[in-house]
Amino acid sequence: PMSENWSATDTYLADFLVGDDPALDDALAANAAAGLRPIDVAPVQGKFLHLLARIRGARRVLEIGTLGGYSTIWLARAVGESGHVTTLEYEPRHAEVARGNLDRAGVGDRVDIRVGAALDTLPELEGPFDLVFIDADKENNSNYVREALRLSRPGTVIVVDNVVRAGAISDLDDDDPNARASRELVAVLAAEPRLDATALQTVGVKGWDGFALALVVE
Ligand code: SAM
Repeated sequence: PMSENWSATDTYLADFLVGDDPALDDALAANAAAGLRPIDVAPVQGKFLHLLARIRGARRVLEIGTLGGYSTIWLARAVGESGHVTTLEYEPRHAEVARGNLDRAGVGDRVDIRVGAALDTLPELEGPFDLVFIDADKENNSNYVREALRLSRPGTVIVVDNVVRAGAISDLDDDDPNARASRELVAVLAAEPRLDATALQTVGVKGWDGFALALVVE
């Protein structure tokens, strides 16, 4: 089936372009040992986020949804030694695993993990952030974009993961809450005059999905 080709090709690309990365491999192993679900971004996507942050010259990054900190490591590397990542996680156990992974990866001192429901912790934060990566409970994506806007300035980049959901977004008979949230999200992105946005479908080791990318323009 097609999904096997997607996976094999993703692995081929990652072998060349991501390569061996003991800190990231160790983080995934620690996640698995702790029983965390393997719902981190794929290696090629982690590197994409890392490059995007560097292209933006991001020094302050906000992440919503830490899990074991796999994407957090990629983002923390991108901001450099004097940069900072704030990452929000609901599950204390996930935050604890992430703390270990970030420290072992040598970027722990530039990452602040805030434990709690993101809708509760976001109002405590002060911006502006240069890049916001939204990857938590998908039903709140529109709320997270509104909060991200409050914490932005013109030039801030906002990435929202998992908006395509194997095409469920465009299957209007599919009333799965996550699919509905994706439809609401793109409507919010389209209607918000402070944002210029697009969305891309992706295939790979994580199946068929995609992300939205928005630029804060005013
Ligand atoms: N960004 C991570 C990565 O790529 O390595 C993966 C994040 S995982 C897809 C989503 C995470 O969001 C889970 O760890 C989950 O516990 C967390 N989460 C769910 N609801 C949340 C909420 N209301 N506030 C903060 N985090 C939440």
